[in-house]
Amino acid sequence: MKNIVILGSTGSIGQSALDVVSTHEGQFRVLALTGHKNKELMLEQVERFRPKLAASADPATAEALREQGIAHVVEGVDGLKEAASMPDADFVLSAIVGAAGLEPTFEAVRAGKTIGLANKETLVVAGDAVMEEARSRGVGILPVDSEHSAVFQCLEGRGGNVIKKIVLTASGGPFRGRAVDELEDITPEQALRHPSWSMGRKISIDSATLMNKGLEVIEAHHLFDVGPDRIGVVVHPQSIVHSMVEYSDGSVIAQMSVPDMRGAIAYAMSYPGRMEDVIEPLRLASVGSLTFSEPDINSFPCLGYAYDALKRGGTMPAVLNSANEVAVNAFLSGAIGFMDIPRIIKKTMDGHIEAGGPWEPTLDRVREAHAWADSSARAFAAPEQKTQEPDQERVKK
Ligand code: NAD
Ligand code: MG
Repeated sequence: MKNIVILGSTGSIGQSALDVVSTHEGQFRVLALTGHKNKELMLEQVERFRPKLAASADPATAEALREQGIAHVVEGVDGLKEAASMPDADFVLSAIVGAAGLEPTFEAVRAGKTIGLANKETLVVAGDAVMEEARSRGVGILPVDSEHSAVFQCLEGRGGNVIKKIVLTASGGPFRGRAVDELEDITPEQALRHPSWSMGRKISIDSATLMNKGLEVIEAHHLFDVGPDRIGVVVHPQSIVHSMVEYSDGSVIAQMSVPDMRGAIAYAMSYPGRMEDVIEPLRLASVGSLTFSEPDINSFPCLGYAYDALKRGGTMPAVLNSANEVAVNAFLSGAIGFMDIPRIIKKTMDGHIEAGGPWEPTLDRVREAHAWADSSARAFAAPEQKTQEPDQERVKK
């Protein structure tokens, strides 16, 4: 029986992970759950899974959990860190959205826990520091992002082989094939309707701008130690091939399955083994055809900005991520248009260069750059705008 902690249990990934736990009885014990403002769901999960510890970043949710009286309740960032480093935990699923996941995930690495990493922003913001800490402590970081889980699976057992390229697949999002002038008036509702995946609100918008793929390029760089010139992106709308590795001899190994995040989540949870009956079997004959094309950087400049941030290095990826979080929240709350998202990111990145950045990416410098970019991007987004937490609602297919 594996003791697991789920950071962000009320999110799309967190709920899918609990679904895997429920359907594989006797294999996992849920030691701790953490949520934020989704009080009802958090109470329901604690009632059902009976964790020792429940943490919420939100005081009102923490109070409700205390009244419920089932789990020991902790709150705030310190509470999240306590959950992330529980002494008897074997596996910590990092599934908080955004840079809010960094501190608890870093704490889990420091505590020597095996990590299942869904929270890609942790590596975008502080990949050098997190990977260095993980290496020095011998901590395994198992990817949960479907593309990175695919690459991880394509690399297994091929230690001596020379990698020529990693190719990440992208669905292309709901606006694949549209020209720039057709994107200005996109509404949040349209952007939240993803064609092949059911996900949280922030990553759904990131998928619509292709920033998600940009963040994944940076994530792949840190996880697999491959430079930006050897990480490619190909658009594959069917979302069946989850990513590929091209080797020195020209051979390409790809990983496929139906698009269902429970596959990648379960693989990280059971690694190095595989569980029984996690997702629907893939029937290629019913899928029919798989298509591939180049991404359109003109309509979706965020992908280019992410490559640029990775090449510039230092604290620039943290700035890119922070500006993106601000811009996505502003778009979701109706304060800015869809194409203002890349504009704000570009202006914030340019400002970071003018301000003397990027700097060496130590954890303190990264935190500083994140805070700087947050206030800089907020000023570009709208001085009077109130940000809305992209936390409560799920997007259904
Ligand atoms: P979501 O919005 O559905 O859930 C986010 C979770 O984080 C919730 O449990 C919420 O309570 C918690 N949270 C939000 N703000 C918080 C804060 N300030 N402090 C503490 N907790 C907070 O998001 P999601 O779609 O499940 O995505 C989670 C992470 O996994 C993201 O980094 C995303 O990029 C990554 N990911 C998601 C998918 C997917 O299919 N949903 C796929 C690959 C990677
Ligand atoms: Mg992904």
